[in-house]
Amino acid sequence: MQLRYQYRVYPTPGQQDMLARSFGCARVVFNDALRARQDAYAAGVTFSDTDVQKRVVTGAKKTLERVWLSEVASVVLVQACQDARRAYRNWFDSMSGKRKGRKVGAPRYKSRKDNRQAIRLTRNGFGIRGNRKLYVAKVGELKVAWSRDLPSVPSSVTIIEDSAGRYFASFVVAVDQAPLPDVDAEVGIDLGLTTFAVLSDGRVVESPRFLRRAERTLRKAQQTLSRKEKGSRNRAKARWKVARAHARVADSRRNFVHQQSTVIIRDSQAVYVEDLAVSGLARTRLAKSVHDAGWGMFTRMLEEKAARYGRTFVKIDRWLPSSQTCSACGVVDGPKPLSIREWTCAACGAVHDRDLNAAKNILAAGRAERLNACGGTVSPAA
Ligand SMILES: [Zn+2]
Repeated sequence: MQLRYQYRVYPTPGQQDMLARSFGCARVVFNDALRARQDAYAAGVTFSDTDVQKRVVTGAKKTLERVWLSEVASVVLVQACQDARRAYRNWFDSMSGKRKGRKVGAPRYKSRKDNRQAIRLTRNGFGIRGNRKLYVAKVGELKVAWSRDLPSVPSSVTIIEDSAGRYFASFVVAVDQAPLPDVDAEVGIDLGLTTFAVLSDGRVVESPRFLRRAERTLRKAQQTLSRKEKGSRNRAKARWKVARAHARVADSRRNFVHQQSTVIIRDSQAVYVEDLAVSGLARTRLAKSVHDAGWGMFTRMLEEKAARYGRTFVKIDRWLPSSQTCSACGVVDGPKPLSIREWTCAACGAVHDRDLNAAKNILAAGRAERLNACGGTVSPAA
C-alpha cells in the first residue's frame, strides 16, 4: 500500500524564489488545462489527454505569452496537467454516476492567493542525495529535517508551501502491510463537541490542553484580523498571525490524532464511525466549528491504519439517530438538545450518557452493516 511521509524542508532565499516560480507555472498550466477541457466539452469536441498536454505545455512554451514556462522543470508542468485531468475526470465521473461515493465538486481554478502552493514531481524530477539533501529539478538541493526514516524509495514528491510560509516535502512511498495479532474488541466511536470522542467501551478521548490553547489563540487572532481595516499594513500583519496560529493548530492536531488513532487501531479488531457528512452533528451550524477539520483527519488516519494493520474500518453511511435511540432497547426517543448530557429511556428505564449511548449505537449499526455486507458501504482494505 502507498502512504505519505511528510517532512519540513528549508529552502534558501534563492531556492524559495525558484520554488515560487515553479508554483506559479504549475498553477498556470493547471488552469490552462482545465479551461481547455471545459472549452472542448462546451464545444462538443473530443480532446485527448495528449492533445491537452501538447497545447498547455509543449505548445504553450513556444508562444510569447507562455515562453517563461521553460524556466521551470517540465516534469512539474506535466504533473500539473495530470492533476487537472484527474480533478476534471473525478468531477465528470461523479456527475455521470460512474464514480461512486460522495459527489465531487467542479474543479476550482488555482490562485496565487490560495493557502497552499504546491508542485508535484515524479522520479525523474527529484532524488535524495548522499548528503541527505533533496534534489529538486531546477531548484537545487534542499535541506530536509528527516524526522523519521523513509521506509522505501519514494515514487513521487510534492513540495508544499503553506500559508505561514513554511515548506514541506510530502513523499509517496510503498509500505508493506503489517497485520497486528487479532484481538476480540470492536469499538464504535462518537465524535463529540464537549470531548473529542467517546468510545463504546466507555473510554473518553479529551482534546489535550495544548490543542485547546492553540485553538483559542487562533480564534483570537481571527477576531483581531476581522477588526483591521482592509488593505492596511496592520491587516497584513494580523493575517500573518492568523496563518501562524493556524499552522500551530494543524501541527498539534496532527500529532494528537496520530497518537489516538494508533491506540484505537492497536486495541480493536474493528472500528466503526459515523460518516460526518451524514451525522446529525454535521447538519448543525456547529459543524463549522474548529472541530470538523480534526474529525476528518481522525477518520482518515483510522481508515489508513486499519488497512495497514489488518483491521476492519467501517464508516456508517446512512443517517442514524444515534443520540436519540436507546442503545438498550432500540426505541427512538426523539430529538434532544445538545445541552442534555444524560437521559432516561421512557420505554425501558435505562439511564444513558448521551455520547456513550451514541457510540454504542454506532457500534451496533457498524456490526450490522459489516455482517450484511450489502456492498458499497464497507471499506475494503486498500
Ligand atoms: Zn430503552
